[in-house]
Amino acid sequence: MRTRASVAAVLALAGAVAGPTALSAQSSPTPTPTSAEHHDRKPEDIFRVKPLSGGVYSLYGRGGNIGFFVGPDAVLVIDSEFKDIAPGIVEQIKKVSDKPIKFLINTHHHGDHVGGNEIFRAFAMILAHDNVRMRMLADPANILRDYPARLEEAKKNGNDPQVKFLSDQIEWAKKVKVEEIPAPIVTYDSELRIHIGEETIQIWHLPPAHTDGDSVVYFEKAKVLHMGDDFFHKIIPFIDVKSGGSVKGYLVAIDRVIGRVPPDVTIIPGHGEVTDMGGLKGFRQYIADLLETARKARAAGRSKDDFLKGVDLPAYKEYGGYKDRFKANAGSAYDEVK
Ligand SMILES: [Zn+2]
Repeated sequence: MRTRASVAAVLALAGAVAGPTALSAQSSPTPTPTSAEHHDRKPEDIFRVKPLSGGVYSLYGRGGNIGFFVGPDAVLVIDSEFKDIAPGIVEQIKKVSDKPIKFLINTHHHGDHVGGNEIFRAFAMILAHDNVRMRMLADPANILRDYPARLEEAKKNGNDPQVKFLSDQIEWAKKVKVEEIPAPIVTYDSELRIHIGEETIQIWHLPPAHTDGDSVVYFEKAKVLHMGDDFFHKIIPFIDVKSGGSVKGYLVAIDRVIGRVPPDVTIIPGHGEVTDMGGLKGFRQYIADLLETARKARAAGRSKDDFLKGVDLPAYKEYGGYKDRFKANAGSAYDEVK
């Protein structure tokens, strides 16, 4: 069974909605499967742990990739995926180290990265950019504002799983107390460093790209970088413009990162396989090509509708989620290149 948070995140990634993250303690019935294929991993892929270097590991589950670091007296984790699989994630980490999990960093507020916070907060301090907390706390109000209309729509269309999901969300939003929302309790507006043993873990907030609360995490000694959803590796990104994200911002954010890490860095993307600088540059090229295509259409005086009808970037057709999210990316690019 998936949590309601997972439904919201999957819908959001599929571009259907970009609404609240909808965190909750409760579970919802099995949702309608969607085409956000990177969430639907093969069973053998769930909880795949990959040692990288210097005590840093990546962990693929369902949702955003997790990174974790094992120090001499503490474990630090990056992102928590979904509530229903968070206990399994903790179990995997415990297989690698019996040191206490003391820190959890959220790279941004989406449900497939913070859904497991509720499990982690029992033992770990949760840290993130100010806007992550702000957006998580705003969830109930946003649900009460946006979901009743969607519920009516779902009822009209006879979409029963959606009706159940939206009704549950509204019920949750009516009842939940601020302190029940497992938001980060330590927040920052720019940068933060955590020192564990010999390792320095740098957390950098970047200019708005995926959302306006994005952080990346760099392990200095290990030379490993976790980029959250500022990097989708060989996957078409979801760009959450409604949460302050920006296509152009992706270039700024990526370039800032490239300027700060060594060329032989190992990179954990928010979605997709672990890669290196070459992989990140490939993703940067996608964003650059997307903006260039939109710019050309604007220069030729084409309307947004006309542009979206024919737009295509064949070089990236093999990327996951092309069918689901490419047009949305192109529309956002068109809006931004005025
Ligand atoms: Zn995200």
